[in-house]
Amino acid sequence: MKQTVILLTGLLIAGALSGQQWKPQSTEWYYPEPPVVKPGKTAGQAPSDAIILFDGKDLSKWTSTGEGDAKWEVRNGEMVIVPKTGAIQTKEYFGDCQLHIEFKSPAPENHRGQHRGNSGIFLQSIYEVQVLDGDNNPTYVNGMIGSIYKQSAPLANAYTKNGEWQVYDIYWKAPVFGAEGKLETPAMITVVLNGILVQNNYALKGHTAYTGLPEYKAHGRLPLMLQDHGTAVAFRNIWIRNL
Ligand code: MG
Repeated sequence: MKQTVILLTGLLIAGALSGQQWKPQSTEWYYPEPPVVKPGKTAGQAPSDAIILFDGKDLSKWTSTGEGDAKWEVRNGEMVIVPKTGAIQTKEYFGDCQLHIEFKSPAPENHRGQHRGNSGIFLQSIYEVQVLDGDNNPTYVNGMIGSIYKQSAPLANAYTKNGEWQVYDIYWKAPVFGAEGKLETPAMITVVLNGILVQNNYALKGHTAYTGLPEYKAHGRLPLMLQDHGTAVAFRNIWIRNL
């Protein structure tokens, strides 16, 4: 980045000194060269530089947010919430990232609203992208599927049907804190659900608060957390890229 800025500045000065004698080449640069990243062979498959957080086999990348190991169940290539065993979080800590995660809501039974297939994807442990059954399941819109919980309703309900896998792709820019923990830049998030844009570079107002208002408190890299909200939501194919 720094080299690019220096190069561009140099070109601009050179351009000004030469009386705006621009050539097309004056505004082209060659380094730093972006790394080669090979995409997955099929849609949603991890690219070559992704960290695989769950490949269908085990919870080795995860731990309980309480005591000990993650207590969710792994079966048929899925990890399934065992209600009341608590949230789980990655052992690794993250900042800016691209996250791919797929989930499936359990059978609705008689549950409604926030009780139907509720879980959550907590970027840096404290900022929630809601996971909820969005199939004919009215609730407050800033708590529905695709919402930034209690902050931003989604641009669309892109959920398909209960029983079908739903695909989230999340692009996260961590908040930046300066001297004495003062917020310099808020967290920014873009969320795509099933290929449909549901959050368009939304600037978060702070952490996810169930009661009260969001606020920022300075932090660095933190784990990715998945919520246990008492229903057996299943997850698969989870990978993340550090940005
Ligand atoms: Mg939730």
